[in-house]
Amino acid sequence: MGETSVEIICRSCGEESLLKRMPRYEGFKRVGEILTCAACGYEYASEADVPFKQRRAPRVFDTSDAPKTVRVFRDEEKGRLCRYCRQYVVNPFTQRCARHRRFVEATDSCEDFEPKASAEAKKADPS
Ligand SMILES: [Zn+2]
Repeated sequence: MGETSVEIICRSCGEESLLKRMPRYEGFKRVGEILTCAACGYEYASEADVPFKQRRAPRVFDTSDAPKTVRVFRDEEKGRLCRYCRQYVVNPFTQRCARHRRFVEATDSCEDFEPKASAEAKKADPS
């Protein structure tokens, strides 16, 4: 059958090229192959020297076709913030979670979120 074209990245010309195989003769006896770059004719001493092109690795991060990740603060997410939780206790110096007895940030969110009653929310957040 015909030659299979083997892609290489030529060490000599640096091009993505094809490997050219030609039988090497000594007299009339075939002794091996001549391996050359199809682009520039550089001859490789042996198959081990041939810079075969690697199978292209899948590009995970491709800026051109990756969906633009827009970080949207969803209401659901916002609704779980400690500052909107009835267990959130604001002191002059600290913010605490009454349920977990630990310090929290207003922007923390919690699995055990309990929404404030609207009246309480008003009282706690005068702004
Ligand atoms: Zn070449």
